[in-house]
Amino acid sequence: MRVGLGYDVHKLVKNRKLIIGGVKIDYELGLLGHSDADVAVHALMDSMLGALALGDIGMHFPDTDPKYKDIDSLKLLEQVDKLIKEKGYELGNTDIVIAAQRPKLAPHILKMRKNLAKVLNCDIEKISIKATTTERLGFVGKEEGIEAFAITNLYKNK
Ligand code: ZN
Repeated sequence: MRVGLGYDVHKLVKNRKLIIGGVKIDYELGLLGHSDADVAVHALMDSMLGALALGDIGMHFPDTDPKYKDIDSLKLLEQVDKLIKEKGYELGNTDIVIAAQRPKLAPHILKMRKNLAKVLNCDIEKISIKATTTERLGFVGKEEGIEAFAITNLYKNK
């Protein structure tokens, strides 16, 4: 059994879509990034790569590469999933925490879990997503950005 930790932050700006966990959320601000800036999916991918000491997403999908411009991060997740399966591992479970002062994420959590379970081709019970505010403290509390943490367990399937 292997465990990996992932962490990601993106800045909130005007004129960008807000996409978290593959869900497009109706909001006046969106996350800035080279890809679609899906902070939860990025933390998850880093935790999966970290579990097998395979580096990070910046290494696998460099933000200098135009082919990743505005890419749907679920497509990148599909590639990370393929990679861990090639190494003989399966997802045990993952627990993701998204910290955002606004907007309210609770109404979107189930859909996010379904999106990730579909891409990873696993039971939704393996995917936990929680949302929290930071009580108005720090950059998250000041609504300057959104951060996500993920811890993931992978197990050898053969
Ligand atoms: Zn990111």
